[in-house]
Amino acid sequence: MTTLPLHNPATGALIAHLPADDAASVAAKTAAARAAQPAWAALPMAQRKACIEKFRAGVVRELDALARVMTEETGKPIRMSRNELNGLLPRIDFFLAQVEASIARETVLTEGGMTEEIEHAPLGVVANISAWNYPWFVGCNVILPALLTGNAVLYKPSEYAARTGQAIARLLHEAGVPQAVMACLIGGGEVGQALLAQRVDGVFFTGSHATGLRIARAVGDRFIKLQLELGGKDPTYVCDDADPKAAAESLADGAMYNTGQSCCSVERIYVHEKIHDAFVAHFVETVRGYRMGDPLSEDTYIGAITRAPQLQVLQAQVDDALTQGGKLLLGGKAGPGPGNWFEPTVFSHVDHRMDLMREESFGPVIGIQKVSDDDEAVRLMNDTRYGLTAGVYTPDGERARRLLAQVHAGSVYWNCCDRVSPRLPWSGVGDSGVGLTLSTHGIATFTRPKAWHLRQP
Ligand code: NAD
Repeated sequence: MTTLPLHNPATGALIAHLPADDAASVAAKTAAARAAQPAWAALPMAQRKACIEKFRAGVVRELDALARVMTEETGKPIRMSRNELNGLLPRIDFFLAQVEASIARETVLTEGGMTEEIEHAPLGVVANISAWNYPWFVGCNVILPALLTGNAVLYKPSEYAARTGQAIARLLHEAGVPQAVMACLIGGGEVGQALLAQRVDGVFFTGSHATGLRIARAVGDRFIKLQLELGGKDPTYVCDDADPKAAAESLADGAMYNTGQSCCSVERIYVHEKIHDAFVAHFVETVRGYRMGDPLSEDTYIGAITRAPQLQVLQAQVDDALTQGGKLLLGGKAGPGPGNWFEPTVFSHVDHRMDLMREESFGPVIGIQKVSDDDEAVRLMNDTRYGLTAGVYTPDGERARRLLAQVHAGSVYWNCCDRVSPRLPWSGVGDSGVGLTLSTHGIATFTRPKAWHLRQP
């Protein structure tokens, strides 16, 4: 039997060899999902909701153990693992509260014996190929609304968060979702590829731009729904009227939380020249206070780098920035092994010739660039092929709205960053992807509008 080795990125120790899927088991699970989906969709909504409510109770009941599993396999600091699980609960509540209204059948005409209705029918069997960095969030953003709206789900968690993926599936099964309706596929990219070779009605992917392109090509000859939630190079501009200390503290957290491994991490900072030096001083001081160490320790803020190859990406960005005149203020190198570690790293005197300011870092590395006015800041914020989030720090709300209106991004922030809300759509523009999750739109996205033309005899 094929197995998937799973390592603890903080220690390098082997956690487990998990039984993995192969092309045959993926085909069998797809066939079972296809057969089971109509009965699942035919259940009253209340029954599907009851399953998700029980799932929620399971998450609450096992929260500490689930957090530990996630921390062991991803290196996420334990407090942040608990935060993710606690943050999942209001998302579940949102889905439960909004699902009926999001997909309610609409009557759009009743006239002279003619009725026109829009039904929001489930897509059918959907594939969810997922990332490891927030495995509960990105998994459940797809799985829960997909199930609630009557779909069967073939879920391939990341090979770096496979035990979390198994836990999500187990808790759903224990809550009453049939095994065939919620299948978990264990393995790496090859299992993802085997899944894409199956007949599915939608593909919902969260991961890197490079893999997103491969996925788009793999399904390119089929007319099925494709959503890609990809990376970003998320900018923030700190205006001259902002409080440099408050902004620095907020943005240091936005850049370094989850060891910088968030899709909406602050990845580039532009600061008005009037407050640049004060901002940089506060920023470095804040980051210096972050403790790097055992992810299971309660006072750890900087955990391990989940994927070992990312250490080379981070080092290459640092070396490139140094070669091109960047000023290294903190960190700058991998930490000692065993395990995958990279020091929290801060640069000033950076510009857009450097990879650090153009390519996703996905780690605790940040560049701060001085700008002379709002126009320059907007031009630089938009000088990217990505467009996930962007932010502005200023006490002036009108100024913030004017600037944010000019920025190309799926989400924009005023005086905040690295934030996701269940009530708002989560989407990217450009190379950050296509489609959306969350909000009522992110529930309806698992359905297709079916047109009913009904004439009374
Ligand atoms: P990744 O692209 O390496 O892997 C994502 C998933 O794709 C994994 O499950 C992997 O096994 C699978 N996969 C790999 N190759 C495949 C192939 N050829 N066919 C099918 N499946 C394949 O990404 P990752 O390292 O897990 O996640 C990090 C990336 O995800 C970052 O770029 C981050 O910004 C992004 N991300 C985006 C969002 C968002 O909402 N926009 C959220 C979280 C993470």
